[in-house]
Amino acid sequence: MKIKSIKVITLSMPFNHGGKKVIFHGKEWKSLEFNLIKIETNKGITGWGEAFGYTSWKSVKVAIEEMVAPLLIDKDIENIPNLLLVLQKSLHLFGRYGVTMFAISGVEIALWDALGKEKNKPIHELLGKKNKEEFKAYSSLFRYGDPKIIEEKCKQSLDDGYQAIKLHEVEEKCIEAGGKGSGNIPLMLDVNCAWNYEETIAKKDFLQNMKLKWLEEPIYPPEDYQTLAKLSEELGVPIACGENACTEFEFKAMINQKAISYAQPSVIKVGGIYEMYKIIQNCEMSNIQVMPHSAYFGPGFLATLQLAALMTEDTYIERFYLDIEKEFYPGFKKALNGMYKLPTGPGLGIDFDYKTLSKYEI
Ligand SMILES: [Mg+2]
Repeated sequence: MKIKSIKVITLSMPFNHGGKKVIFHGKEWKSLEFNLIKIETNKGITGWGEAFGYTSWKSVKVAIEEMVAPLLIDKDIENIPNLLLVLQKSLHLFGRYGVTMFAISGVEIALWDALGKEKNKPIHELLGKKNKEEFKAYSSLFRYGDPKIIEEKCKQSLDDGYQAIKLHEVEEKCIEAGGKGSGNIPLMLDVNCAWNYEETIAKKDFLQNMKLKWLEEPIYPPEDYQTLAKLSEELGVPIACGENACTEFEFKAMINQKAISYAQPSVIKVGGIYEMYKIIQNCEMSNIQVMPHSAYFGPGFLATLQLAALMTEDTYIERFYLDIEKEFYPGFKKALNGMYKLPTGPGLGIDFDYKTLSKYEI
């Protein structure tokens, strides 16, 4: 089966976070920009992918159109790992991180979706042995900076069936409110690289008292694995990191330096499905649990489930706890008894209804 065309479709999806007005990159944050990749094959099969977007959506779209697509048109789709290698080798001079890798990741996901549909098999079956079809889900809250709203959002998450919650807060009173709102369920804290080593270690007692399942990206820059390793040793709280790392090599560096307890590869950033599969295998060989970053709503979310099906270790699937105006896959808005089920269809498992989403196209 050959690749006939590769198209990027960007959606601007209105969303409601339920908090106060937020300024994001200079503008009020009211919509999320999603880059969808649509691949058509000579057999009439359509594969969908998703590349990281938000404020980088235009750059990523151009990178796909100008850098990635020309390397793939008319190529046979059968050996995706080899296509991924060709893309990475051809484009490495433009960066093994960021926009180039986002572009490669999104297209690679669409290739797997198309191949799975051709073979009438879900993606995980094309890669390895299924170990799971149900996953623990967690509600990943927006950053509110307001204890009252945080407590409310924790309670709403519990009502929606989630049995684990992640906060994106940095102030102690807000983190405490999350602890109060979530009760005895696992609680995670993501500070998105807000602190440095000294600031983190100064909060040691407080963080330990919060009994966190993990502390995510405590320091800037996120690739300072030496400092993360020091914190892993001294803080007494498990450290998670990886949503800003690309390729298996960065994860190997993280593991080799003993920087983390949990690895968080993000399939729409890391290099795609096969790159993430290699990362999962490396992590499991090193007894590092993988907690995928999946704060997405489209094909990137389902690609994460396909990969999670292959994991032998326990994992949690992240759901960005926002109301978007139109869900891609409405079944994942809530978690039944705290769990998500692996979809059973070919490729990514479910095809979204593009007709209803097309009104958000920009
Ligand atoms: Mg994070």
